[in-house]
Amino acid sequence: MKTWKKFSHIDARTVEEASSVLRSGKAALISGGTDLLGIMRFEILPTHPEVVVNLKSIPGMDYVKEENGMLRIGALTRLEDIAKNELVRSRYTALAEAAHRTATPHIREMGTIGGNICQLNRCWYFRNPDNRFNCFRKGGQECYAWGGDNRYHSIFGPVKLCIAVNPSDTAPALVALNARIRTNRRTIQAEQFWEMTVPGSTVLAVDEIVTEIQIPTPAAGTRSAFNKFAIRKSIDFPIVNCAVMVGESDARICLNAVFNKPYRAEKAEGFIKGKRITESTADAAGAEAVAAASVLPGDRNKWKIPIAKTMVKRALLACA
Ligand SMILES: Cc1cc2nc3c(=O)[nH]c(=O)nc-3n(C[C@H](O)[C@H](O)[C@H](O)COP(=O)(O)OP(=O)(O)OC[C@H]3O[C@@H](n4cnc5c(N)ncnc54)[C@H](O)[C@@H]3O)c2cc1C
Repeated sequence: MKTWKKFSHIDARTVEEASSVLRSGKAALISGGTDLLGIMRFEILPTHPEVVVNLKSIPGMDYVKEENGMLRIGALTRLEDIAKNELVRSRYTALAEAAHRTATPHIREMGTIGGNICQLNRCWYFRNPDNRFNCFRKGGQECYAWGGDNRYHSIFGPVKLCIAVNPSDTAPALVALNARIRTNRRTIQAEQFWEMTVPGSTVLAVDEIVTEIQIPTPAAGTRSAFNKFAIRKSIDFPIVNCAVMVGESDARICLNAVFNKPYRAEKAEGFIKGKRITESTADAAGAEAVAAASVLPGDRNKWKIPIAKTMVKRALLACA
């Protein structure tokens, strides 16, 4: 019979209190719990938190408001509240669409934007129950996906020999919208927020907590859109997703689920900037976006490359 690992639970009252508990290195934050509880339940990591620190007990961390030329979203704001917010839908459309396309209504009602951007990467070896595969991402010596079944893995190569992809739907929208992530210590440009650590997916220090997302209000006439390809329509992680923001002389394009972290398609941005978006320019921008893509041993992830190209094309056309 399985012996369940024990942990204690703390309802934090302030961000400072939560951060001081994290400092021990033996604690984990919980927001909606939709990713963390699966990780703990299936014991996918070699270590197990001794303490789970609840952020939802901290008042005033869920809000959506526009002030001082930016949209401010509290880290504990639920995805469903972002998806339905009229202001987000009209002026920060890519983010509303990304939140709307995440998981299921139940998960969107529980899951928060802070948890969504901090969720761990996806790879079925890394996430196999009972820490069966002690891979690079866990501090081990091997990548089991490299020579194994890597059909969902990176099309832009490894990072520190890991090819697990970042699965967040909101992350590419935040990069495309040029967002900043506020923590209890600093402000980080969204593009610089994700990094491969063991076993993490962000640059956050052990006692660092996301407190707010800030998005500069786009200039009048700027449009943004999000597109996602998943196997199932009802509930599924992205095989590839893409967010774009297009202004009069500016374009930002970000893919996700194609690399270790959100992948900004800068060549495609350079191509489309200042051009009229048509079927043919959007198609050519899609081709630029995947020009540097490569397949992994076994060719199993080859199918993701044309999907990524199409995601870029469709997201751009939605802004035309
Ligand atoms: C069946 C299923 C389907 C899913 N489908 C999708 C999908 O389609 N797209 C997608 O993007 N995601 C998907 N998810 C993943 C994810 O669970 C949700 O998207 C959700 O947004 C995570 O938020 P949460 O508040 O529940 O995070 P939690 O589970 O509470 O936390 C996730 C991680 O972030 C850390 N964390 C939480 N809040 C903070 C904070 N404020 N500061 C620092 N660290 C923090 C936690 O310690 C934990 O490591 C799915 C999950 C499930 C179970």
